[in-house]
Amino acid sequence: MSVNLKINNIDVTVPEGSTILEAARSIDIDIPTLCYLKDINEVGSCRICVVEVKGMRALQASCVYPVSEGMEVFTNTKNVRDVRKINLELILSNHERKCLTCNRNKNCELQTLSNDLGVSEIRYEGENPHYNVDKLSASIVRDPNKCIICRRCVNVCKNIQTVSVIDANERGFKTIIGSAFNMPLAETPCTNCGQCIVVCPVGALREKEEIDTVWEALADPKKHVFVQTAPAVRVALGEEFDMPIGTRVTGKMASALKLMGFDGVFDTNTAADFTIMEEGTELLQRLENGGKLPLITSCSPGWVKFCEHNFPDFLDNLSTAKSPHEMFGAIMKSYYAEKQGIDPADIFVVSVMPCTAKKFESKREELSSTGYPDVDAVVTTRELGKMIKQSGIDFVKLPDGEFDAPFGIGSGAAAIFGTTGGVMEAALRTVADILTGEDIKQIEYNAVRGMKGIKEASLQIAGKKVRIAVVSGLGNARKLLDKIRAGEVQYEFIEIMGCPGGCVTGGGQPIVSSKIKMDIDVHAARAAAIYAEDESMEVRKSYKNPIVKKIYEDYFIEPCGHLSHKLLHTHYKQRENYY
Ligand code: SF4
Ligand code: SF4
Ligand code: SF4
Repeated sequence: MSVNLKINNIDVTVPEGSTILEAARSIDIDIPTLCYLKDINEVGSCRICVVEVKGMRALQASCVYPVSEGMEVFTNTKNVRDVRKINLELILSNHERKCLTCNRNKNCELQTLSNDLGVSEIRYEGENPHYNVDKLSASIVRDPNKCIICRRCVNVCKNIQTVSVIDANERGFKTIIGSAFNMPLAETPCTNCGQCIVVCPVGALREKEEIDTVWEALADPKKHVFVQTAPAVRVALGEEFDMPIGTRVTGKMASALKLMGFDGVFDTNTAADFTIMEEGTELLQRLENGGKLPLITSCSPGWVKFCEHNFPDFLDNLSTAKSPHEMFGAIMKSYYAEKQGIDPADIFVVSVMPCTAKKFESKREELSSTGYPDVDAVVTTRELGKMIKQSGIDFVKLPDGEFDAPFGIGSGAAAIFGTTGGVMEAALRTVADILTGEDIKQIEYNAVRGMKGIKEASLQIAGKKVRIAVVSGLGNARKLLDKIRAGEVQYEFIEIMGCPGGCVTGGGQPIVSSKIKMDIDVHAARAAAIYAEDESMEVRKSYKNPIVKKIYEDYFIEPCGHLSHKLLHTHYKQRENYY
């Protein structure tokens, strides 16, 4: 059913159930918004998107008000403009306005809106209470002084991730967004996924930066500082330099890292091929020897922590293979240190990740199998963007460089780790060849591609039935695991990624404003770049990566062997859940 209405005297027809905001956008009329975030936060609380509806005295919040037949709407009257400005000034009156030193300076929806609505003075004085900044988490910093109580973070954490560790405490002017009893996030079952950061319109949430730690290591002449970059970073880093969403900047990124002074610029994709070798072998062993099934991937640290808090009965299902960047660190401080004659104590491994949870992961005590932490510092894609700017590098003009040997070669299978379904597809490319003894040419598994939160398929591989599921987002993981617990579904192999869409839309990726998200499918654009990266590779199966082959021959001997169990595998532990 369609509905006909007029907006600013222009006829418009939209599906029944549309909001005024959606109807206006369908004819390119821009209504400013602040708390609104499509599909995540549609609550109408900030009152910035108000419009006049003929016949109604009060202005209406267009992001939640439904259209009706014959309705007449005005989005740009003097009254509308005045009220929007007053509402914005009231929000600003209680806001710690320190733009120059704020993490979100120049990428802040409140700042942009103040400029767009022409706020040049704030006529009201708020109470401006001072709150402590919560810096105790390894991944997330919360600064309530910058919070505008839009509740985007609350709704993403509760409805999309089903973690529910933040909500509104107190009421009225005293309202503050925080955890129960205002506990530090570090003491809650927060998964460190960072999805709250990427939806926050302002500087109230940010990652725990490790930029200075990396600069210090680079300035230390004793240290051998090696950097590795995850597959999803190269399809998003360009956005920090105003390049279009989904631009591949692999070569420019390698050039920039070399200019910044790293002693080795390596690719996490090489390590992702090791992860497939170990995890694929684990799957084959469990299938053949009657081991615990389904095997569930464990390379997403947000998902792993969620499992430890909420589904401890599934911990034995998790693959014990370390995540790729941790494997890389362990290999650097063992095999590479021996080969190069470097004391592992002098090796400093930096991971550039699309993920805030990797910061927490790198600090887990069990991820130090050489006696040293596998990884010494984790910076997000956003932090790398800042470091490149601090270095005075003109990123856009950089020529394409290459990763260094020996860890500069990754397969196409490793490249697709960056999007939902990628780890599953990468594993299937290797496992299917091993089971059939053939070099299978059809290597694109379309059933596991795309943004659907839960994807399922049943495959026949060498006469064996392998039932698989691919899940992204913790709310979807909860749904699937509850069904498994209830005995409603069975699988042999499951991929779970903590962030909706996988790492390309991870919590450490460049922040895209709510307005742009209304027009562009960010996941689709970045994922398309990931698949293009895969297609451009000569080697597209992990077991064919020549570096991986060589290191198994020289050092590990075989996947899931004695040495790889010591260096490339880990374990998990049940954690408390307060809810
Ligand atoms: S949150 Fe935005 S408006 Fe507030 S200080 Fe930071 S940049 Fe400025
Ligand atoms: S990091 Fe994830 S789990 Fe933690 S508060 Fe934010 S959205 Fe919730
Ligand atoms: S922390 Fe950010 S997303 Fe959460 S309510 Fe405050 S301003 Fe909104």
